[in-house]
Amino acid sequence: MSRYRICAIVAALLCALAVALGKPALCWAIIAGLTIVVGLGVAFPQMSFFGPFICQGQNARRQIALTFDDGPDARSTPALLDLLHHEAVPAAFFCIGKRVVAERELTTRISREGHLPGNHTFNHSNLTNFFGPGRLRDELQTTQAAVAAVAGTAPAFFRPPMGLSNPFTFYVAKKLGLKVVGWTIRSLDTRITEPERVVQRVVARLAPGAVILLHDGNIPAERLVRTVKSLLAKLREQGYEVVRLDKLLA
Ligand SMILES: [Zn+2]
Repeated sequence: MSRYRICAIVAALLCALAVALGKPALCWAIIAGLTIVVGLGVAFPQMSFFGPFICQGQNARRQIALTFDDGPDARSTPALLDLLHHEAVPAAFFCIGKRVVAERELTTRISREGHLPGNHTFNHSNLTNFFGPGRLRDELQTTQAAVAAVAGTAPAFFRPPMGLSNPFTFYVAKKLGLKVVGWTIRSLDTRITEPERVVQRVVARLAPGAVILLHDGNIPAERLVRTVKSLLAKLREQGYEVVRLDKLLA
């Protein structure tokens, strides 16, 4: 049973008790409290509030995984792939389905070079978390098909846009055999424009098993390459091995 269900049941029981005791105001306070907790659960993957949101891998070894969201992007993904190839480092790419359709060659390259394509919905709508199960299923299924058509296999992992989730997220993902993945460290690389500051932020939070969230979509190639290059140097300095997400989570 999810934490959300447990909270809802406890709140309903407490509300019933409050009403039975003739204190309806207490019931409103309980509902307000539940609303706040639900809001936090929507926004923070690490709470695993609505279902099993995987945000960390096994921590027995000094290993981490790099994940890149919102590509493939012809302006920046090729330069990133060149760097990862040169450094012999694997990564996971949470791809937007419509970009996969538009960038078939690039998606094939991601897969051919040993990286792991993931599902990041077809349209990456800001309203994804308001979609009902039918529409969310369409978003995920069309992306699964788009990736499978160019990479040979459909993704095993799904990351919801902005990491927002609700009960449908886990219901639909489970139906499609997808595991829902969040992150341990959010780099904020699309907001922080200086690569060194992004790297400092990530390095300050490093721990074995960390899943690091970066972006290859909507980010200048030069900034992305400088960030990843510097991050890889720091990881090496600190004795971390970069492994592919599926290996870190195995
Ligand atoms: Zn995204």
